[in-house]
Amino acid sequence: MFNPEVNPNQEKKYHWMCSCPECNTEMVYPVEWDEAGPAHWTILLHCANCNWASEDTYVNADVMDFDESLDRQTEVIRADVNMLVQEAQDHETEKFGAEIGSFIAALYNDHILPSDIARQMP
Ligand SMILES: [Zn+2]
Repeated sequence: MFNPEVNPNQEKKYHWMCSCPECNTEMVYPVEWDEAGPAHWTILLHCANCNWASEDTYVNADVMDFDESLDRQTEVIRADVNMLVQEAQDHETEKFGAEIGSFIAALYNDHILPSDIARQMP
């Protein structure tokens, strides 16, 4: 989509902030950032995939877009973690239910006797 208000160099720079120039993955994240005047930030970027790192100065609009992109990625990761935790809890509940079921079946079939539970007397 063509947007005449967007400077093509800024768009390229924003894309470059998200994508690693070495391995082309989008595993780039900011390590350090400092204001560099009223309209710019100096940011040290690092790639978690290939360990590439570089410091450069970016305009506010690109930094805000990058920040929003990081927020969206954080939300995706948080949703994935919550799903994994829920699956683990469901699995534990299912496993516990199966163990209780086996215990009750063993009780009804007299496979568990008082002597199995009673404390061993010396
Ligand atoms: Zn990389």
